[in-house]
Amino acid sequence: MSKVVKFGGSSLASAEQFEKVGSIIRAEAERRFVVPSAPGKRFGNDTKVTDMLYGCYALAEADKDFAKELKAIKARYEEIIKGLKLKLSLDDEFVTIEKNFKEKAGKDYAASRGEYLNGIIMANYLGFEFIDSATVIFFNEDGTFNAEKTHQVLSKRLEGLENAVVPGFYGAYDNGKVKTFSRGGSDITGSIVAKAIHADVYENWTDVSGCLVTDPRIVKNPQKIEIITYRELRELAYMGASVLHEDAIFPVRQEGIPINIRNTNDPGNSGTWIVGSTGQKSKYVITGIAGKKGFCSINIEKDMMNSEVGFGRKVLQAFEESNISFEHLPSGIDTMTVFVHQDEFMDKEQKVVSTIQRLAKPDTIDIESDLALIAVVGRGMKSTRGTAARIFSALAHAHINIKMIDQGSSEMNIIIGVANDDFENAIKAIYDIFVETCL
Ligand code: ADP
Ligand code: ASP
Ligand code: MG
Repeated sequence: MSKVVKFGGSSLASAEQFEKVGSIIRAEAERRFVVPSAPGKRFGNDTKVTDMLYGCYALAEADKDFAKELKAIKARYEEIIKGLKLKLSLDDEFVTIEKNFKEKAGKDYAASRGEYLNGIIMANYLGFEFIDSATVIFFNEDGTFNAEKTHQVLSKRLEGLENAVVPGFYGAYDNGKVKTFSRGGSDITGSIVAKAIHADVYENWTDVSGCLVTDPRIVKNPQKIEIITYRELRELAYMGASVLHEDAIFPVRQEGIPINIRNTNDPGNSGTWIVGSTGQKSKYVITGIAGKKGFCSINIEKDMMNSEVGFGRKVLQAFEESNISFEHLPSGIDTMTVFVHQDEFMDKEQKVVSTIQRLAKPDTIDIESDLALIAVVGRGMKSTRGTAARIFSALAHAHINIKMIDQGSSEMNIIIGVANDDFENAIKAIYDIFVETCL
């Protein structure tokens, strides 16, 4: 039996946290492969080392002095090394990092040092072998993850090893240049390592006791989800449940390896299991609620739209030409609405509108900004009547105006559009009706 254990930033923010991690790993011999993140926040308004690195490199890139900022980063690691009483010096590493910053090795290289250095400390602390992820995780020239080459090289490299530390978040192009995943990407590394060793379980250790029904920053102490499918989790993660990176399920899903989300500060809690399928019903009709702010809707109307062949394609072509992807596409008779990310759309708004006019010749185009999307997700929704009605009534009671409602064809999710300002209250109202009233 073997497990891959990934620890997030807050689990590794200080020597004290490292000690908790050490006892978790030592508690089970199966916890053989460790994927650490960079040190996160030690307290509320602390700065994550990854953010310190981005800030420091921005100065280097602008040919400004960055000595003070680099020293502060080094101090974060030295505090951990000293607290753990390790005989380890990172002096040489920091000489190399300084030189590479001056030579403008890139923003990704800079950010990746957070995990790289924490990996060196972790390996030294545990007495495990350290493997630089730049030698085993690969990206294609277009920046996408190269799953095939990675699997080949990584599984060979790990074969026969009793244990190892593989830092999260980064890999490299074929030419050796470092590249990172998007933010929160150490979760993906953990999943890739789990696939490479055909792990029995991928444990993802964080600062909450699992995937909760909704964001604990919005609802106080939400209930924990005991078991959730990959598909449900993917939907929730994509829509804003930041407890796991939305792409982290793909590598393990191919192998059917379950993910167990656990709390470093409460290791006795069994956490959440993420699995391929389960006969276990979720406790409530819904499994979870997640959402994101910052969308725009472009509402297009044209008489007889539905009978015009190619209308939808022409509208979407206008977005494609401006390199904008769409989030949602609810439609009615003679109307079609496109939801996009506001920050991607704003600069290109007039170009997109004029392209839609030229290509599709609609009667009207209305744009509404500052919208939020909320996903209500659950495998149990398919077999339960009245879920949408309950959402409607909860939101009506909370005096929230619904801008859009869209049921996915899987019948596993309902997406609701509301004003940004109503976002938190809408989530609370939906949580109340499905969870609080059932307790
Ligand atoms: P790590 O540094 O361990 O990777 P993250 O900060 O990336 O941790 O993810 C954990 C955080 O995700 C929690 O502290 C919580 O604030 C947030 N979060 C958002 N939605 C959820 C949810 N549905 N369940 C649990 N945590 C959530
Ligand atoms: N350290 C990186 C970040 O802050 C990656 C991660 O934590 O997963 O985004
Ligand atoms: Mg994370």
